[in-house]
Amino acid sequence: MTHKCQALVLHCMDYRFIGHLRDFIVSQGLKDQYDEVSVAGGVQGIVSGTKHVQEYILNQIGTARRLHSIQDVYLINHLDCGAYGGRTAFGSDQEEHDRHTSDLQKAQIIINQRFSELNISMVIARLNEENGGQEVDFEVVSGS
Ligand SMILES: [Zn+2]
Repeated sequence: MTHKCQALVLHCMDYRFIGHLRDFIVSQGLKDQYDEVSVAGGVQGIVSGTKHVQEYILNQIGTARRLHSIQDVYLINHLDCGAYGGRTAFGSDQEEHDRHTSDLQKAQIIINQRFSELNISMVIARLNEENGGQEVDFEVVSGS
C-alpha cells in the first residue's frame, strides 16, 4: 500500500498565520497534497536550533520522502516571528528581511545536503494589520 503526496510544508507554529498559510498552500496546487511540520521559528530550527531540533525536522522530511515520496519542500518563515525576538529585535525591516532570507537559503543547503533530489521553495510571509484588517502577503524567495 503506497500513499503519495507532492510536498512537505515546514512553517512556524504561529497561530496568526495558519489560516492564511492553508490558503497559500492550496493556491500552490497542493490541496490535500502535503505533509506538514509546524515548529516555532520555522527554518530557524534547522539553521540555528539545537542538534536535536535539526535532526527532528530532517527526520520528518526523510519520513515524508520515504512514506509519501514527496518531491517538493516548502520552507515558510514569517516576519515579526517571536522565535527570532519579533520585529523589534532587528535594527530595520530590511535587516529582518535579510536574516530570514539568509536562514531560508542556509536551510535549503542543509536539506539538499541530505536529500539532494528535493526541490526547495522558500517563502517569507508578512502579516498586514492595517485598517483593522488582517491579510498576509507571501513572498517567494529565490534560491542560493
Ligand atoms: Zn514565528
